[in-house]
Amino acid sequence: MTQRSSSWTYRLKQVPELENLEVEVEALGGSLRCDIRGKISPMLRFLIGRFFSSHDSLGTLASVKGSNIYSLYFPPIPSAAHERLFESFLSTHVFKRPKPMAATIGVTGRCQYRCVHCSAAGRSAGRPEMTAEEIRRVVDECLELGVSNITFTGGEPLLRRDLAGMIASVPPELAVSQVFTNAADLTPERIAEMSKAGIYGLQVSLDSPDPAEHDRMRGTAGAFAAVEKGIKEARRAGLLVGVSTYATRNRVWEDHFLPRMADLAAGWGAQELTVFDAIETGGLLGKKDLTLDRLSRWKLLGQMGAVNRRYRGKMRTVTQSWTNSGRGFSRLIGCLAGNFQIHITSHGEFTPCDFTPLSFGSIRDSPVGELWQKLLSHPAYSRRSLRCRMQNADFRRKYIDTIPEGEDLPYRLKF
Ligand code: SF4
Repeated sequence: MTQRSSSWTYRLKQVPELENLEVEVEALGGSLRCDIRGKISPMLRFLIGRFFSSHDSLGTLASVKGSNIYSLYFPPIPSAAHERLFESFLSTHVFKRPKPMAATIGVTGRCQYRCVHCSAAGRSAGRPEMTAEEIRRVVDECLELGVSNITFTGGEPLLRRDLAGMIASVPPELAVSQVFTNAADLTPERIAEMSKAGIYGLQVSLDSPDPAEHDRMRGTAGAFAAVEKGIKEARRAGLLVGVSTYATRNRVWEDHFLPRMADLAAGWGAQELTVFDAIETGGLLGKKDLTLDRLSRWKLLGQMGAVNRRYRGKMRTVTQSWTNSGRGFSRLIGCLAGNFQIHITSHGEFTPCDFTPLSFGSIRDSPVGELWQKLLSHPAYSRRSLRCRMQNADFRRKYIDTIPEGEDLPYRLKF
C-alpha cells in the first residue's frame, strides 16, 4: 500500500486472483471515496463499492492522521491494517478461502469481580494461564493468518502487569489492538502505559445505568464509580473508548435501558456502545428465559436506531442483534465464528468465539493456523451461518447439550 495524504492505494497481494487490482481509498471528511482500477467483474466492482460506501451511512467517530474511524472494532480507513481487513474480507466472502479478521485473546481467567453473566465462568480450571511469551507467539500466528484486530480479554486483563508488552507486540501497520476491562484498575498510570504501548481502544464493561444495580451485578461496591472515572481518564488521555454491555429479554423493556446506557456512555465521552445478546453460556448457562426473543430483539433494534440518530457523529451503538440481522451486516458477516473471528482462552484453548465452550485444541500443541483449518473442516463451521450458533436450538442440541457433565470447559471436541 502507498500513501498520499489521506488517500491510499490498496494492492491486494494476498488474493492471487486480484493481484492486478488497485483500490484507491480516500477519506474526505466524513465520507469515503474509492476508485477501482484493474480488470474485475462488474459484480465484484459493485461489492467493493458497497463495502466502502456502507461506512458512510454509519458516520465517523473520530479521525486519525487523515483516516476515518467508524468503529473501535475496525482499523481506520484508509490504513495499512485496514487493507489487510479488506483482503481477508474478499478472501472469505468472494473466494471462499476464509481468513479471520479479528482475534480475541484471553490473557487471564482471574478477576476482582464475580459477575453473574461472566462468559469465562467455570472454564479451564486447573490449566495454567498462557505466559507472556505464549501470548506473543499467538499474536504473531494470528497476524500471519491475516487478523487485523487483536482484542485482549479476560477475566480482567489489567490484572496482568505485563499487558502493555502484549499490546506493544501488535504492530499498528498490521492490526489494531483493544482491551476489554472492568475498569477496577484503570488508573492514569495504567492508561499511560497502554497508550505508550500503542493501544487503539479500550472497551469498558457496564452492566446497568443504575450505579447500585451495576455494583450488585459485579458484587462490589464502587464498581460503577470506577467505570465512570476510568472512562473519563482514558478520554482525557486521548484514547478511543467503548462501553460494552449485554441485553436480556427483560432489560430491553425495562425503564429505557438502552437510551439510558447510551446517554451515560456519550456523556462520559465514549465513542461506541456495544450491546451483546445475553447468551446461555458461562454464568448464564441454564438461564434461557434471559435470552432475547423476537419481540425483544425488535424493540432493541428500534431503540438502537433512535439513539444512533441522536448521537450521530459522536457515538455509535452497535448491537449483536443488529449484526446478526437482515438489517445489519448479516448478508456479509453473520455469526462471527469460523468466519470473522477466533478466540483463544487464557489457558490457550482455541475456540470459535468467546461464548462457545468448544475447543478445537490447544495453542500449546498446534499453531493457530492449523487450529483454524481444523475448525473450518468441522461440519458445524464448514459453512457460514447468518445467525448466532449459540442461540440456535439445533446447534445447541447437537454440540452444547451433549457436553458430558463434569467435563472441563471449553470441551475438547474429538476428531
Ligand atoms: S456463536 Fe457466532 S454470533 Fe454467537 S456469539 Fe459466537 S460468534 Fe457471535
